[in-house]
Amino acid sequence: MIQYNTDFLIAGLVFLMVLLVHFVRVNQLNGSSGRLFWIFIMEGALTIVADLIAATLCNMRNPEYNSTIIAATTIVYILEVLIIFTFYVFTQILRHCDRKIKKRNSIVAFISVVIMEIIVISNVFFHQLFYCNSRGEYVYGPWYLVIYVYTMLFVAVAIGNCVCHGDQYVKKELQAVWEFVLIGFVCVAIESVHHELLLTEFGVVIGTVVVSWIIYNPQTMIDSLTGVYAKGHLNQWLPEQIRSGRQFHVLQISMWKLKQINKLYGNSVGDKVLLQRAEEIKNLKENNDIFRIHGNQFLIFSKNKSDYEDTKRDILHLFHTPIQIGENSIDFPATICGIMDAQELVDIDMLLAYLGYLSILKPKGDKTTLIENNETTKQGFLYEQRVKKYMNTAIEDDLFEVYYQPLYSVKEGRYVTMEALSRLNHPSLGMIPPDIFIGQAEKDGQIIKLGKLQFRRVCRFMKSHTELMKQIGSVKFNLSPLELLNPGYSQELIKIIKEFGLPYGWFQFEITETVATEYSEELYKTIKDFRDVGIEICLDDFGSGYANLNTILKLPFSTVKLDRSMLNGICEDKQVALLYKNIVAIMQNLGHVVVAEGVETEEEVKLLKEWGVDLIQGYYYTRPVSRKDLLLIDLNKQL
Ligand code: C2E
Ligand code: CA
Ligand code: CA
Repeated sequence: MIQYNTDFLIAGLVFLMVLLVHFVRVNQLNGSSGRLFWIFIMEGALTIVADLIAATLCNMRNPEYNSTIIAATTIVYILEVLIIFTFYVFTQILRHCDRKIKKRNSIVAFISVVIMEIIVISNVFFHQLFYCNSRGEYVYGPWYLVIYVYTMLFVAVAIGNCVCHGDQYVKKELQAVWEFVLIGFVCVAIESVHHELLLTEFGVVIGTVVVSWIIYNPQTMIDSLTGVYAKGHLNQWLPEQIRSGRQFHVLQISMWKLKQINKLYGNSVGDKVLLQRAEEIKNLKENNDIFRIHGNQFLIFSKNKSDYEDTKRDILHLFHTPIQIGENSIDFPATICGIMDAQELVDIDMLLAYLGYLSILKPKGDKTTLIENNETTKQGFLYEQRVKKYMNTAIEDDLFEVYYQPLYSVKEGRYVTMEALSRLNHPSLGMIPPDIFIGQAEKDGQIIKLGKLQFRRVCRFMKSHTELMKQIGSVKFNLSPLELLNPGYSQELIKIIKEFGLPYGWFQFEITETVATEYSEELYKTIKDFRDVGIEICLDDFGSGYANLNTILKLPFSTVKLDRSMLNGICEDKQVALLYKNIVAIMQNLGHVVVAEGVETEEEVKLLKEWGVDLIQGYYYTRPVSRKDLLLIDLNKQL
């Protein structure tokens, strides 16, 4: 006669209890998959308790306990059928597909559950699965395999689901489902042969531990420094939130002074400041969900408008108040971006992209600022998104154009060089400003491809207009920071020039002040490669940022372009005029050719000529023009 081994049941119960305590402590069971997982654990615990009672009483062989054994075992079977179903629904919730499909699958599965439960309950009267004989022994009925077959069938469906729709799962979640199924399968298979081992529940428990380990792992869910949710959890939580269709509002806090504080006071003070702010944010509203998504960035989700408004008000107050750490009173401003009804943004990438877009709108200055979603920001963001989408097609089909803006030489009284400027015409948005599509290409890593396409286009133009090139002398081509820092890029451009058989002297490359400020070996090497073959380098946008003069002087520029912003006020303000005039003199004394950029009025031209500026670029002489229009300009004409 079988003597049941309850060791696995007891071990399983212990595992489950530990898991449960852990879950409750870190409050991880939210979201629909989390809540379902909670139900799953509870069902598991109840099954084990019922099975323990049944197995212990069975081992006593006392007919007096027969009805209790039958009741407990019936509960075990009812719960087992439910557990399998719960797990199946859980795998459906994790799937990223149409809600209707998931609902349909769950309903079909539920019908089989109802049938199975009827079979289990009817066993009390018909004994087809099991019964207890007059000696108090547990006896298998003729259909006893039905429950195992049913389990195996569900396992097969789950496997089929994973194989056919693997692409609809997050990778680690799919892995968790696979491991659960595998462990469950092995344990059920062993128990169907060795009935005394009662391994099914143990298998379910081990599978549950594995799932929680992989999906609800506190190491990835909770940020170890601040105790709020970590970025990893956001990727799981937010899609669920959006799919549920419930309303939610979000605030993003970017604490951009953290790096500076770390440098100034040390990392430990930086951590303390961050920790204190995190604690204060946590204490604002109990119902908020808080995530730390970067070292210095938090996201706060509120479920209703009044919570959002209160949180916003309190956060603004918080970040307007300095933090007291020891003797130091530290100013700790932040940029706060808010989006109401964030569920309308369809997916997590859109939401984060929109928050990123809002934070770029931060005005200059180091005060705490609030930037909230409104119709204008939304339109701006949607415009960028459309550009982003169009960029792939534009690069694939090479839909860009190059406009040319000639530069006027004061000494020669005519145009002597010209700048190549990229243009992109969108079928419905019209001309997209290069700042926008170049910026987008830089963000999306397409700038190298785009740069090369445009460079080839310029080369083709030169090749077919050699007479024009002889008159104008050279073309200035803009290189963005990412192109310059890309190893081997200089050699690629040099190779393209060779391929077209053009003289190197026809090319000049423009590098913006911001790149030149961040001196690096790679940048130096790139510039040297160009200089070695005789290509000149021009420092662009000088005076627009915070150039490090020392670094700039180390780089071998032939030309310096003074930024348009430096012209502001030269006609009205003597100090401004004096500054401009002296910068021209300094740069010329250092041996650079000086270009004044963005010149629009006669007054400006008069002053610039007086101050000895070498070249003038601006609408006063000509706007950037298309290839066709350029051919209509008489480049030899004295102006
Ligand atoms: P940038 O290199 O500073 O180019 C000069 C910009 O000033 C051009 O704007 C030009 O149209 C504009 N400009 C010229 N004269 C005047 C004037 O008198 N008044 C005013 N208000 N503006 C004037 P654009 O064409 O919109 O280009 C903007 C920026 O986009 C460029 O600034 C450059 O940084 C970038 N860019 C354009 N094409 C390319 C490219 O092919 N590659 C890279 N990496 N960047 C490019
Ligand atoms: Ca330029
Ligand atoms: Ca410029």
